[in-house]
Amino acid sequence: MMNIQPVMTEVYDLHCHSTASDGAFTPENLVLRAQQQGVTTLALTDHDTVAGLAVAKKTAESIGINFIPGIELSSNWQKNCLHIVGLGIDPTYQPLVEITDHLQTLRYERCEKIAEKLEKKRIFGALESVKAAAGDGMITRTHFADFLLSQKHVDTQQEAFDRYLGQGKSAFVPTIWPELEAVVKWITGAGGMAVIAHPLRYKLSAKYIKRLLNEFKSFGGHGIEVITSRINQDEIRLVAKYAKDFELAGSVGSDFHNDSNPYVELGRIAQLPLTITPIWELLS
Ligand code: AMP
Ligand code: MN
Ligand code: MN
Ligand code: MN
Repeated sequence: MMNIQPVMTEVYDLHCHSTASDGAFTPENLVLRAQQQGVTTLALTDHDTVAGLAVAKKTAESIGINFIPGIELSSNWQKNCLHIVGLGIDPTYQPLVEITDHLQTLRYERCEKIAEKLEKKRIFGALESVKAAAGDGMITRTHFADFLLSQKHVDTQQEAFDRYLGQGKSAFVPTIWPELEAVVKWITGAGGMAVIAHPLRYKLSAKYIKRLLNEFKSFGGHGIEVITSRINQDEIRLVAKYAKDFELAGSVGSDFHNDSNPYVELGRIAQLPLTITPIWELLS
């Protein structure tokens, strides 16, 4: 008789958020949830902060799941705000510590300006509310969207972005994020791999994406998120082709923030196409 061994499936999720930025779960509860969802390797990648990593790592070690320290840095490229995930970073790397401190100040100042713009629209109380909601964590537009929702100024988070918070809308505050080249260098300087997050969300033309990938490679970037939540097979094929053409490794991440959307869940993402080099092979 054939001896059938149980197959241990590895489930990677290398992009998600905790209360250290705009996620709903504490780093500890996020890691516990990841394990419940069958994730075997998790990277926590909060916006512009490493504050959640120590607790997440400790929790992951205590329950036996692999943990990759990460971050999602906001960057500027050709007037676009691009998100760059750093994987396998040393959170104590001094330039990274300095830039995250700077970004916390920048985000705080931006948040005051967003609140002022909302006041001009006769929406009051945003500043106190988002500060309380963010606590010690990074203040993001998600906090404003949640405030607008809770005060019934909008019916959905999407509407908050469409009416107030999105680029060019009434409470949008342009922000000078660090240049892409510097962001890639901070990540690689911290011993990490730089990965372009959700590459199709920036609505760049094919010509611009190619220009971006060329430059990103020349700055020392390693990978691109081939798999994100809510991506269809055509999109996967397209991004996989970019990865192949530009010799970038592929990453996979749900970008999980909270449990309000059943289609976005830790570990609940498509498989990386077999033709693509997985970023985790470069990490080990
Ligand atoms: P920030 O980094 O403060 O500009 O906030 C960006 C965050 O807002 C993203 O990471 C998303 O979590 C969230 N976000 C951006 N656009 C939308 C949208 N259209 N609907 C819902 N959330 C969004
Ligand atoms: Mn976010
Ligand atoms: Mn992002
Ligand atoms: Mn994200």
